[in-house]
Amino acid sequence: MKILVTGGAGFIGSNLCDYLISRGDYVSVIDNLSTGSLDNISQLQDNPRFHYIIDTILNRDRMESLVQECDVIVHLAAAVGVKYVIENPLSSIETNICGTEIALKLANKYKKKILIASTSEVYGKHMHAPLREDDNLIYGPPTTIRWSYAASKLIDEFTAIAYHRTKKLKVAVFRCFNTIGPRQTGLYGMVVPRFIQQALRDEPITVFGDGKQTRTFTYVVDVIQAICRLIGCKEAIGEVVNIGGTEEISILELAERIKAIVGSRSKIVLVPYEQVYGKDFEDMMRRVPSSQKLKALTGFMPQTPLDEALKKTIEYFRSRVTLT
Ligand code: UDP
Repeated sequence: MKILVTGGAGFIGSNLCDYLISRGDYVSVIDNLSTGSLDNISQLQDNPRFHYIIDTILNRDRMESLVQECDVIVHLAAAVGVKYVIENPLSSIETNICGTEIALKLANKYKKKILIASTSEVYGKHMHAPLREDDNLIYGPPTTIRWSYAASKLIDEFTAIAYHRTKKLKVAVFRCFNTIGPRQTGLYGMVVPRFIQQALRDEPITVFGDGKQTRTFTYVVDVIQAICRLIGCKEAIGEVVNIGGTEEISILELAERIKAIVGSRSKIVLVPYEQVYGKDFEDMMRRVPSSQKLKALTGFMPQTPLDEALKKTIEYFRSRVTLT
């Protein structure tokens, strides 16, 4: 199969490319390196079945030639990370909405199957668990920039479903729940790489707020398995599907867990949200997925234990971080 991976030099994208190449697919990547890096795909560069272009998905002509040549598109390119979105609100909205519109328009023009990456962020401020794909969505006001990320990805979801309903486009949407693993960077706010690097350097581990907020982390290898199952799943067409792990953990407990696995002397410190994100910031206090739909559609659900995912990610950072 020839697969176009937008955002293929990013954390999830590059891990997906490795897997697709290993199973014999032909892979094209378009990535503008805004949050991805060439380092992530350097191991693939000499492979004759791998091809990459450094460009933005907003370049319609470039996207058109790539879409024409592929069988399936996995659209991962997006503005990611709460910190990144808060610091780059306008370009994030543009990338997420206009970029996805271009990908869907071209997929429809050439009748190519397309998978659209969305995020658990779209659920907004729920406190119940688990979150199901047919739940209502709860956001704060537009002056709280964080919600623009959820809203922009939600527009992507609506557009995808509308293309399916009106044009019969073969499209499926997946919502990722806090994916973790090798190659994730802490530069855009993501908590696990930040805590691991802080722990490895014996620096303070910075827990934002009171640390009682929870997340359910998903190992990247599981996410890639789920995406690949969805590529081959006819019943997923026109559907929105969660991809999330099983173990809910508070951020304070996460800090303690990482500190213990690393064997670090770091102190765990609480940092007020305002100090990090400024005024008008709201966190999501709880985020636990239902994996029922993914399991029913594909027979698969993520099951890598959190400790194993953390250990693998720590090993990756140990091999890279220069300790001083
Ligand atoms: N977080 C934290 N310290 C950090 C980075 C993040 O306590 O150095 C918290 C953040 O406030 C949130 C959780 O960890 O409650 C997950 O943050 P992340 O940005 O990784 O993902 P998201 O908020 O999108 O779930």
